[in-house]
Amino acid sequence: MFRVYSGIVTAHDFNLVVLAIVICALASFAAINLLRHAHNSSGRTRNIWLGVAAISTGSGIWATHFIAMLSFSPGIPSGYNIVLTIGSLLAVILLTGAGLTVSVIPNQRAAPYAGGAIVGTGIAAMYQLGMAAFEIQGTIQWDRTLIANSLLLAILASAAAIAAGLRGKSFKWKCYGALLLTLAIISHHFTALGAASIVPDPAIAISPLAIPTAWLAVGVAASSFVIILLALAGAWLDNHDRRRSELETDRMQSLADAAVEGLVLSHDNKIVTVNNSFAQLIGYPQEQFVHADLATYFPDTDLHAKLLSTSGQLIETELRHRDGALLPVEVLLRAMEYAGRPHHVIAVRDLRARKEAERHIRYLAHHDVLTSLPNRSHFNSRLEQEIPLAQNRDEKLAVLCLDLDRFKEVNDLFGHAAGDKVLQAVASRVTAVLGERHMMARLGGDEFAILMPGLAHPSAAGRLAEKIQEALRDGRDGSGVEDISCSIGIAVCPDDAIDRQELLTHADTALYRAKVEGRATFRFFEAKMGIEVRDRRELEHDLRHATMRGELKLVYQPQQDLQSGVVSGFEALLRWNHPLRGAISPATFIPIAEETGAILEIGTWVLREACREAASWRQPLMIAVNVSAVQIHSANLVQTVHQILLETGLSPGRLELEITETALVRDLNRALMTLRQIKALGIRIAMDDFGTGYSSLSNLRAFPFDKIKIDRSFIASVHSNEQAATIVRAVLGLGRGLGLPVLAEGVETGDELEFLQGEACDEVQGYLFGRPSAITEFRELTHDDASSHDRGAATGIKVA
Ligand code: C2E
Ligand code: CA
Ligand code: CA
Repeated sequence: MFRVYSGIVTAHDFNLVVLAIVICALASFAAINLLRHAHNSSGRTRNIWLGVAAISTGSGIWATHFIAMLSFSPGIPSGYNIVLTIGSLLAVILLTGAGLTVSVIPNQRAAPYAGGAIVGTGIAAMYQLGMAAFEIQGTIQWDRTLIANSLLLAILASAAAIAAGLRGKSFKWKCYGALLLTLAIISHHFTALGAASIVPDPAIAISPLAIPTAWLAVGVAASSFVIILLALAGAWLDNHDRRRSELETDRMQSLADAAVEGLVLSHDNKIVTVNNSFAQLIGYPQEQFVHADLATYFPDTDLHAKLLSTSGQLIETELRHRDGALLPVEVLLRAMEYAGRPHHVIAVRDLRARKEAERHIRYLAHHDVLTSLPNRSHFNSRLEQEIPLAQNRDEKLAVLCLDLDRFKEVNDLFGHAAGDKVLQAVASRVTAVLGERHMMARLGGDEFAILMPGLAHPSAAGRLAEKIQEALRDGRDGSGVEDISCSIGIAVCPDDAIDRQELLTHADTALYRAKVEGRATFRFFEAKMGIEVRDRRELEHDLRHATMRGELKLVYQPQQDLQSGVVSGFEALLRWNHPLRGAISPATFIPIAEETGAILEIGTWVLREACREAASWRQPLMIAVNVSAVQIHSANLVQTVHQILLETGLSPGRLELEITETALVRDLNRALMTLRQIKALGIRIAMDDFGTGYSSLSNLRAFPFDKIKIDRSFIASVHSNEQAATIVRAVLGLGRGLGLPVLAEGVETGDELEFLQGEACDEVQGYLFGRPSAITEFRELTHDDASSHDRGAATGIKVA
């Protein structure tokens, strides 16, 4: 008995065995390669690739078998049955085709194994048919156990080969697959060959149709050639594909990198790749992100679920930066097919700039730009919050209203830039003394408010007010602004009010009182202040209608030459006879009229009335009319005066306007223009109340005054107060120096008159010579030809 098994080494041509192994390896590599192509394509192309793979694999297995058989020379005549030889080729192609087709069934984990197993049966079938085609002068006997084993080996090894070949994308898995398939074919062949024993029998004749061994060599060579060709084609295609996909990837990557928004390609919560913008947002190089968990950069663990449930909608979330900081971002998820598999693209928009802009807008809406303090609306809402809190805790809360003293003058004198500096200094000096829970706001202009919650006793608010005033006086903060004085009004919740608006109004009322009572102080709100405020509102209201209702009238007070005693003219003084309250002093209602603007109408009425009256006198006496600051700075004072002179026919030379120094400083240039125009009409101008305001020599010189009136407060105290006497002497000296006559107001006693005579004062006015009275009282002065104003015939002082 001739056992093939023993002949593997001795009866085989070793070179041909090696060739068989090489062909087999090549065919296996081509098979796996083509199978992958089939796997990555679909439809018709998939079927074509499967066909190509089946032909390549089948003929590879077939060629391996026959080259191996060629290497085997049993030493007795042999040949190959042509039908069975071709049949074995067709069978293996069909079976491998079926196996490969099964192996690429999508979404079936077991498919590659099942397909591989079928390929394994193909290998076995090929062997059996190939052996059946082998004609030899003898009989072949089979060891059934070995055959079964070889079948099992082929099936297992092929299943493993196909599964490995389709497993990963990498070249490594392709090689594993090809190697296992080679092993499956080779091992099966030699194990199965080992199961066959040949018993030579010369009685058996070889069919004349059998292909001689040499012919077979041609067939095998041809099919090997086809295999190599196919393998090469597969390799080329593979390479081409890879290049194309690399190019595609490159293009995709540059496109993604060009995007301003961050882009993350993910699969199953894992990052596949990110674009440049995203990498920059996080602060790592792009490579760092591959295979990382999304959760590493998106701390919100529910984010992915949220994104999936609200596909296509923007979601605000946070992104963890390399340094641990959380960045506000907006994300959007889109499904996308990538490399044949479903992926997600997450677009990430950096919201920092937008958040910052929003924050800035919110800040602007709640703050004053100049001082950076909270503004009125911010203050109001905080107060609204704090009031119920204070009530729940049984605490008190104070609201301090703060107003700078003479801020308007600073603004007028030194300009708005200086005013702004003062306001900024106030903000910084006051906030420096405030507690943590206190809040300071700028309500507008030079008005500030301070909220003081958690008050044990109202006196704490008084102490804070004192501290604030002290801080404001301290000009050592480097702001260049010296001492600032302010008035403060305080209202306490719940003592004074429990309503925001009322609390603020009360604090404001107390502030008004502090101002009236000499400024640079603070006042707590008292219930009676509220009444005063209401009172004032009523007066404001009534004053608006006073001219129309004929409640105003003028009284006249004589002004006379001190040396001759001759009455040179009268000052017109306004009186308001209120229908309910009776006579109201101009000292009370003129400031109100100035504040409300009613002074313009009233002032015009006074001018017209005084000029009309004076024009009716037989004697051409002077008429002095008081003009308020508001009138000086109104646009049309000059026209109004001119118009009234034309209307009444009063000679301009008989009209004198009395103006206080404080009326000029609001806008010196403008006041100067107005006064010059008035002067140009031939009207005279007197500086009223000199000594009380700035008493500036430069103002006296710069403005075209014709007279100085010394304020009556100095005259009243010339005997009691040495300083007052000095001032009166100084003003008289100033007048002489400038060539301006000086009139002393409010002369009430003979002593005062004597003093003024001694100091050579020019003119006098006061109760001593005549109280302000209706003009009819002075009829002999205004109309009597033979009266005291006969030139040169001084009759001394007339007492009205
Ligand atoms: P003024 O211009 O300084 O007017 C003089 C004030 O001194 C008048 O008060 C007058 O009655 C008062 N007076 C005159 N002689 C004496 C005296 O011997 N002793 C004392 N104690 N007082 C004397 P009046 O009339 O109450 O006016 C107060 C202020 O009201 C005026 O001060 C003036 O500034 C303003 N005023 C009065 N009438 C007008 C007006 O028509 N227009 C404007 N804009 N202001 C007016
Ligand atoms: Ca006056
Ligand atoms: Ca005066």
